[in-house]
Formats: sequence, structure tokens, C-alpha cells
Amino acid sequence: MNTPLPYSAEILRWLRRNGYDHCSPRAALIDMDGTLYDSMVNHTAAWHRLITETGIHCTREEFYLYEGRTGADTINELFKRGKGREATEQEKRDLYQLKTVYFRELPPVHPMPGALEMVTTLQGLGLKRVIVTGSGQSSLIDRIPEDFPGLFSTDLRITSRDVANGKPSPEPYLKAMEMAGVKPWQSIVIENAPLGVEAGARSGAFTIGITTGPIPAEEMWNAGADIVFPSMPEFARCAAQLILSLTKIAIS
Ligand code: MG
Repeated sequence: MNTPLPYSAEILRWLRRNGYDHCSPRAALIDMDGTLYDSMVNHTAAWHRLITETGIHCTREEFYLYEGRTGADTINELFKRGKGREATEQEKRDLYQLKTVYFRELPPVHPMPGALEMVTTLQGLGLKRVIVTGSGQSSLIDRIPEDFPGLFSTDLRITSRDVANGKPSPEPYLKAMEMAGVKPWQSIVIENAPLGVEAGARSGAFTIGITTGPIPAEEMWNAGADIVFPSMPEFARCAAQLILSLTKIAIS
């Protein structure tokens, strides 16, 4: 009997769960914060400072779990919890603006180790690359062409401005598929946060969770990840084999 291809169990489970008989990967839909950039330490610091100043009690750690949500959603949820009411549109705009100011005051953010290798591998395999971020902060988005030269087209990106509902809604990933002209069974999602993983899984794409911060792998599995890798360099090392297996494994 032939040895099964690597990742067969994970791929077959995904195919069955979604009612697909095969996968032909054509696009990689890639999260930005905590995936392409090692930016979550700064984001959680800026959020903690901002929300504490509004008089709402919060911990730094909880902001890792909100990652993927739009800024407006995060502010609104915290207002409901801390003030017993929704934030006004004006408050959402003003506070998010202040959060981006606090973020920019922090030391510079660097690309995630292993991310350049990961995206280069996906490009080499012929996959379209689309950035799908809940962020509306231009400070990082604008650096992508410099930090990932030739790897991302500026017209293949979904930001908070392009969606009515942020992650964990599948909308950002479904819009990214539409933009790339692909279907869910032709898509992989690459994420580092549970809400993003949930959005990817609900979109029907093969959803890869990567632990790049303090969130444990278990949270990614619970959110619906089809596979979880322990670091970005490890995923970069395994990506070509995973894509090959996705191409070959089918339900007969
Ligand atoms: Mg992220």
C-alpha cells in the first residue's frame, strides 16, 4: 500500500466538511498583522493605552483575542462592556484615529520572520496572493511593497474599508475570493488569530492557523483551523508540500 501524502488526514477532513471532492489551490488569502508583520505587541500596547484612557478596565492580553476585528467593532464591544452602551460613530472614528497615533509612537514593526520565504514559496507555486486585513492603518499597509517586493499587487487587497462586517464574519475572505476570481475550494487562508481563523473556516477555504504570539494552538483548532503550524518559519518550510498535497488529494 502507498504511504499517504503528508497532511492527508487534515485535507480529507476539510474536503468532507465542506462537501468538496477536490481542491485546486489558485489563491492564498493572507492576513497582515501577526502574519506578515510582527505587529501584535505594538497593537495590543496601543489598544490597552487607548481603552484604559476611556476609563474602561481592560487587560493587554485580551486584545490578542480581538485581533482581526475592525477597530470600530473592537471599540463598540468594549463600550458595551464598560459603559453599558454602544459607541457613537464619532467616538469610533476619533478613538480609532487616536489608536493609530499611539501605534505610530511605538518602536518600528518588522516583517514576521519567515513571512518573506512563505510568500515567495506561494508565488513560486503560481498562487495569487491577496492581503485580507481588518486593519485600516495605512502605516503598515503602505510598507508592503517595500518589505515584500514584487510579491503583492496593490489592487489585490481587502482592508476594513472594503467590508461591512469584519472577521469573524467570512465576508472579508469571500470578497477576497471574488477579487481574485477564485472559489472557496481553490483558496487557502493564512491566519494567526482565532477570529481570523473562524472567518477563513466559515468562508470554506482551507484555513491554516499559525501561532506567532501568545495565543495557544488550541484556540486556532477551536476556531475551526484545518491545520495549525507552530511558527511562521515552520509553515514556510512546509508550505510547498502542503500545496502539493492539496493539489493531489481528492475524494474518489
Ligand atoms: Mg492577524
